[in-house]
Order: sequence, then C-alpha cells, then structure tokens
Amino acid sequence: MKGKRLLMIPGPIEFTEEVLAETGKPTLSHVDPQFIKEFGQALSMMRKVWLAPSGQPFIVAGSGTLAMELAVANITEPGDSVLIVNTGYFSDRMAQVFKVHGAVVDIAPSELCDVPQTEIIRSMLKAKRYKIVSITHVDTSTSVKTDVKAIAEAAREAGALILVDGVCAVGGEELRQEAWGVDIALTASQKAIGVPPGLALLIASDRALEAFRTRKTPVRSYYLDWQYWLPVMEAYEAGKPAYFGTPAVNLVRALNVSLGQILAEGMDARFLRHRRNAKAFRAAMSAIGLSFLPARDNLLASTLTAVWYPEGIDASVLPLIAEEGAMLAGGLHPAIKTKYFRVGHMGMSDASEILSTVGAIERGFARAGYRFDHGAGLAAAEKILLS
Ligand SMILES: *Cc1c(COP(=O)(O)O)cnc(C)c1O
Repeated sequence: MKGKRLLMIPGPIEFTEEVLAETGKPTLSHVDPQFIKEFGQALSMMRKVWLAPSGQPFIVAGSGTLAMELAVANITEPGDSVLIVNTGYFSDRMAQVFKVHGAVVDIAPSELCDVPQTEIIRSMLKAKRYKIVSITHVDTSTSVKTDVKAIAEAAREAGALILVDGVCAVGGEELRQEAWGVDIALTASQKAIGVPPGLALLIASDRALEAFRTRKTPVRSYYLDWQYWLPVMEAYEAGKPAYFGTPAVNLVRALNVSLGQILAEGMDARFLRHRRNAKAFRAAMSAIGLSFLPARDNLLASTLTAVWYPEGIDASVLPLIAEEGAMLAGGLHPAIKTKYFRVGHMGMSDASEILSTVGAIERGFARAGYRFDHGAGLAAAEKILLS
C-alpha cells in the first residue's frame, strides 16, 4: 500500500478490488448470453438496494446529471408545476433541468446549509397543485440531508409525484423507496453504489411510468426517451437481447458485482455502517476543534461530511492532506466555496479507511500550522468504531 492515496471525496470513491477487476475483463458483446444474464441480474438487484420491489429499474450510460435528466425528461411536460425543495447546489441544478424541459418551477426556500421547513412545504402544497415535488436527499455541496420520508408523505397527500435525487445517498443513506412512496429515486454509479463513473441509475414507480405513458406531448429528448429504454430493460431482465444504444458493458458487469457485494452485506447493516462511520469521522473532527456546515445535527449526512476550515487554515491544506494519504474535496457551494472542505465516506468504507483519513487530516493540519491535541481525532474516532 506504499504510496497509496485514499480517494475520500464524495464520488468517485474507493472501489473494491472485485469491482475494479471486473471492469478490466475483455469486453463482451452486448448480446452475449453471459452479459444478458448479468444485465438482468443487475436490474433485479437494484430493486433490492433501492428497496423498491415493484419498481422499474433503468441503467443508462451517463453520469448522475444524466440520471436527473432521464427522470425529468420523461415525467415532465411543458407547463407542469414542480416544487423544488431547496438545499443548495444540486437542488438548483435540478431546477435548471426541469426548466429546460418546460416546467414551471417554484422553490421551497431555505437558509444556507439548511433545508426548508416541512411546514412551509406543506403550506405550499396546499396553496397550489404540483405535479412533481423534487427532493435532493443529500446535497453534496453542503452535506445537508433532507428528511425524504416526511416530505414524501406531505407530497403524497397532495397528490404529487415524488422525485428524489439520491446521487449521494442511494446505497449508503437510509432510503426505502417504496415504503416512503418515492416515485423516482436516481443515482450514479460512482457514489455509494461503488462502481467507477459512467452509469446513470434510477428506479421508477408505477405512478411515474403512468405519468410517462399518459403524456400528451413527446419527450423533449431522443436519447433519454423511455419509449426506447423501457423495452431494453424489460428484455434484458427477461433474458433476451435488445438494442437501443450500446450499453456500457464493462461498467454494467462491474455494477452486477458491486450490487452483489451490497446485498451480501444487507441494506440495514449497510445503513448502520454508514451512520457509524460518519459519526466516528465527525467525532474526530470535533475532537480537533472543527465544526460542520449543516445547520442542525439532524441534517448531518452519513455519506459525506462538510467541515469548516478553522481560523488561519484554507484550501492550501488539501494538498498536504493528500501527501499524507487522503484525497479530499474542496468546497462546492458558490457562496462559501473557499471556507470548507468535504470528505466522502461511502461505499465499502471501513474502520481503517476512516482512521487513515483522520490521520492524514491530522498530519496535514499539523503541517499547515493548526494547533490541536495530536491524536485526539484518531482516539475519538476509534472510540466510536469500537462501540
Ligand atoms: C454527484 C451528484 C450529482 C451529479 O452527478 P454527476 O455524476 O457528477 O453528474 C447530482 N446530485 C447529487 C446530489 C450529487 O451528489
């Protein structure tokens, strides 16, 4: 492991050896029986990871932003009213995508590093009929987590479709798509799903498919139109070849391996491990005097942590931490970009990855001249990892 640098950013993340080995195999034909089998397995395993036993999964080559547009393009028609639950950078992006597809967008407002109050969302839902309510589960710009379950309940009562951008959540943060009444939950391969970048993934409910099937206007995209992708997904799951656009064969095979690893751990165990790792990491940062962006403790995500730089320290500490063995990410939210850093701890992150990262952060901060009790972060993290 000499010279090995952990990639502890909020995606791409550290991938398992088995997943990486799978991507390096000779590429099969997209209609090879072996590939058809694996594609079908990946689709059906997605339902178990998303906890959406009756949903329709889609696997399309692209990044998380493509997954956002894949969802929006198919359920939105010009003039549709959409309510965006504002949480920052990625909810702003979702609003943009909806506007491109002709939606009339209202924003449930929030303060920086906070989420809109559920009461405000409820009153907006009473005042106007919305076709879609869009929620960013974890806004990766600030590590603010939204209470998807509560908002989905309110949106459901108001008869709206519920779209969840789960790009930094699915497979790490607790999300029970069907039980919580979420109509579309989307993500990308490189986040908590644990596969190199390149796959847009989502599951659509019957209601979402119904909204698609009963559209009065055509989908405003050729590549994204479910009329072409749905038969492909159905065919592969039925063990038959189909073609619309060539699938990312090696990545789909790697997805199959990763989903198998996720399910071998089990979803409840996985949610718990993410919560524990996040808690241990935060305890370490608190112990060396650092604090977090989210306005309240119940907004803290399990998949990543956004940490304020202390007095006298700025982004020039990040290359030092990288030299000490952990690549971290800088700030992303434009209003506060230079004032904080972000650490991803999702996927197969284990205790040694958390401790290595905390150690690299301590050594980097020490080299940058920050004064703290050396080792206090490691001790605090270890205490929680051992509890
Ligand atoms: C990373 C991310 C995206 C964008 O995904 P890309 O793969 O970079 O296109 C969208 N939403 C959230 C919440 C994210 O974390």
